[in-house]
Amino acid sequence: MNTITSEKKSKINLPENLVFGKVFTEHVFEMDYDSLKGGWQEPKIKKLENLSIHPAAMVFHYGQALFEGLKAYKTVDGRIALFRPEKNIERLNNSARRLCIPEVDPELTLKYMLELVKTDQDWIPTKPGYSLYIRPFIIATEACFGVRPSEQYKFMILLSPVGPYYPEGFKPVSIMVTDKYVRAVRKGTGEAKAAGNYAASLIGQVEAKNEHYTQVLWLDAIEQKYIEEVGAMNIFVRFNDEVATPKLSGSILPGITRMSVIQILKDWGMNINERLISIDEMVDRYDKGELVEVFGSGTAAVISSVNKLKYHDKIMKFGDEDPGELALKLYNEVTGIQYGKIEDKHNWLIYID
Ligand SMILES: *Cc1c(COP(=O)(O)O)cnc(C)c1O
Repeated sequence: MNTITSEKKSKINLPENLVFGKVFTEHVFEMDYDSLKGGWQEPKIKKLENLSIHPAAMVFHYGQALFEGLKAYKTVDGRIALFRPEKNIERLNNSARRLCIPEVDPELTLKYMLELVKTDQDWIPTKPGYSLYIRPFIIATEACFGVRPSEQYKFMILLSPVGPYYPEGFKPVSIMVTDKYVRAVRKGTGEAKAAGNYAASLIGQVEAKNEHYTQVLWLDAIEQKYIEEVGAMNIFVRFNDEVATPKLSGSILPGITRMSVIQILKDWGMNINERLISIDEMVDRYDKGELVEVFGSGTAAVISSVNKLKYHDKIMKFGDEDPGELALKLYNEVTGIQYGKIEDKHNWLIYID
């Protein structure tokens, strides 16, 4: 790979308060695609700079864009590890197929990603709860107003040092269930990490914020009856001894944290089911005292405990200011594995050397 790393690396000055996704490292990975030149071209690692793109680039008009999100961690033994990156690359290619974006070579992409993290490894914060967020994305760059898949693309990977999602410790969040809009519909793009899915979901997020809720919980688009997911997190509910999470219906993003949580719960011998969960079942069993805990899972926050859930006029509350017991246990387990504090028995960590 054509690696252009500067002779003298810049001095790294990380601000005390790292606002999520606002600070970027010195280098980026970049690889262009051109169907007339035989596909993916020579990749490079170069200094981060602004792009120069034609205003007619198809991404600006028809939204042909996908992204991924994962993290690299400084483990307790001083090594650098990525959490299940091959799963993100697999999902990137699944999203690519849905959006008519050319797929990437999984092995090479992992190699490029590790190479980039290695280049900017000094940017990985070492304080507890800190990490390096990795953001791969692909955009359509061909300048053309024709409505068809682009013939040219740009694949980039950006790195961003991030602090703990909950700086004051693991704090519960509140969630508002909406049936005013839908995020995604089966056979649509909900299971792809398509940039456009976010554009469609912002309004729900904004309206939840206006009512002082942190996040919005989406219902299925057809019956407006079954819970699906929360903005950028998958959702889990605990009914007494059963832990349940919505089964992947085609409109839910298959989270890698979700997949890992399901495995951990199975390892613990718990009764975990992927199934349909109606909002009516939740209300009904809450009233019976059987719905005891709700939490979300996603790369950014890892696990988010939910202490308040609103659906129409019904407000369900869980454990006031204290996080749920299972949510906290899972948070400690997943982050424990990520920082190398707990045995990684499924080999989820990939070390950069
Ligand atoms: C990325 C994402 C998630 C969480 O996936 P992870 O792989 O666990 O980070 C959940 N929902 C949506 C809509 C997402 O984009």
